Amino acid sequence: MTNYISTRGGVPPQNFTEVLLQGLAADGGLFIPDVWPKFDLEKMRELAGLPYAEVAKYVISPFVENDISSPVLEKLLNEVYGRNFSHSAMAPLVQISPNVWVMELFHGPTLAFKDYALQLLGQLFDHVLEERGEHVTIVGATSGDTGSAAIEACKGCKNIDIFILHPEGRTSEVQRRQMTTIEAPNVHNIALKGTFDDCQNMVKAMFNDKKFRNDIRMSAVNSINWARIMAQIVYYVSASLALGGPSRKVSFAVPTGNFGNIYAAYAARQMGLPIKRLIIGSNKNDILTRFFETGTMKTGIVESSLSPSMDIQISSNFERYLCDLLDRDTKSINTLMDSFKKKGAFNIGSQYMDKMRKEFDAHRCDDKQTQMLMKACYQETGYILDPHTAVGLFAGMQVREDPSVPLVSLACAHPSKFPDAVEQAIGIRPELPPHLADLYDRKEYVTVLENDLSKVQEFIKSNI
Ligand SMILES: *Cc1c(COP(=O)(O)O)cnc(C)c1O
Repeated sequence: MTNYISTRGGVPPQNFTEVLLQGLAADGGLFIPDVWPKFDLEKMRELAGLPYAEVAKYVISPFVENDISSPVLEKLLNEVYGRNFSHSAMAPLVQISPNVWVMELFHGPTLAFKDYALQLLGQLFDHVLEERGEHVTIVGATSGDTGSAAIEACKGCKNIDIFILHPEGRTSEVQRRQMTTIEAPNVHNIALKGTFDDCQNMVKAMFNDKKFRNDIRMSAVNSINWARIMAQIVYYVSASLALGGPSRKVSFAVPTGNFGNIYAAYAARQMGLPIKRLIIGSNKNDILTRFFETGTMKTGIVESSLSPSMDIQISSNFERYLCDLLDRDTKSINTLMDSFKKKGAFNIGSQYMDKMRKEFDAHRCDDKQTQMLMKACYQETGYILDPHTAVGLFAGMQVREDPSVPLVSLACAHPSKFPDAVEQAIGIRPELPPHLADLYDRKEYVTVLENDLSKVQEFIKSNI
């Protein structure tokens, strides 16, 4: 049975349900399994060719088995990985050159890989709340992608109200419409007069208002929830199976921001999936790549790039990996995280750097390189990459030493989500897939509010 500990070591081990509902641990740390469950590779082999939901059941069961019964899990997985995705293979592989594959993770409702985890998270939340007879109010801030994926995941959930704040006029039209055109009584969009930082600060201020937080039973589906990592492990196993695994090693290239997606690949490896290289791609916001080069994690100023979902300077999920790297010495983690908070930087010793470089490769790809690769790929294969995917593939191609090892590059968004960047690179404006073709004609539901705490709180209270 899997229990969960905090990376900061300040809370007793918790079960899956607690970890799901809490998100962040009370000591400010992130939850990780106390021991990594191990795959039975013989059993895994038998999953080759089976539906995605079956692979998901195999991967997820050891993480939840004490809290969620096997028939319930099966039902949830069949629902989630059945109706809401537009490709029956869920995460199909497309070959773009000899032994190089793109894994398409954009067949969910909002066209980005975040759907693969958040769709399940919404159902898990609703199920657990129903059993406990509880109701929560999810409040979140978004600069674009996460908000729409969270709204799609929670719409129609009986035990959840969701309020998403976005900065008025500062998200792309596709991103805004993906949030505001959802017609569901439990979904509430707030366009805040301010920036993304204002939205985030507003959510933090609401969390820190204890009375308000308790009154509305405030919760979050943020990027550090363990259940999201867990759900993302599934597609790494699915890709490996399709390419001859687990009898054969595969390498993965992952465009990386918050370190959630690549950490799920690391988790798969810890559980015994044979993986050759794990390759991190960063754009010009290259805090991670610099860390792998120098051993110093140091934040800089966020610059906007062609791959906006990776424009961040703090990779929150890295703390999870750091915990393993330091042999779960939670005291050292606290010291490093304190230093990071106070000085915006921390250092690790060279013995750790060797280990870390054995486990990951990291490369940066600037906007020009991103555009060039999008163009070359389109000219040579006719395949259209979104800019994030191009960053990952670029990094993967830098590392490719052994061409007999399949390289799987993760396509984290559909090109039509970033039509301007794609058009600039290849001269063609990608079209939205059929289920979103009328997005620009749909009615929008959104309330514009002043950047004023009490006004936002009032709005939330009166709309639950
Ligand atoms: C969120 C996102 C990323 C970054 O993923 P992390 O798990 O934060 O590293 C990359 N590409 C796209 C399209 C995204 O939406």
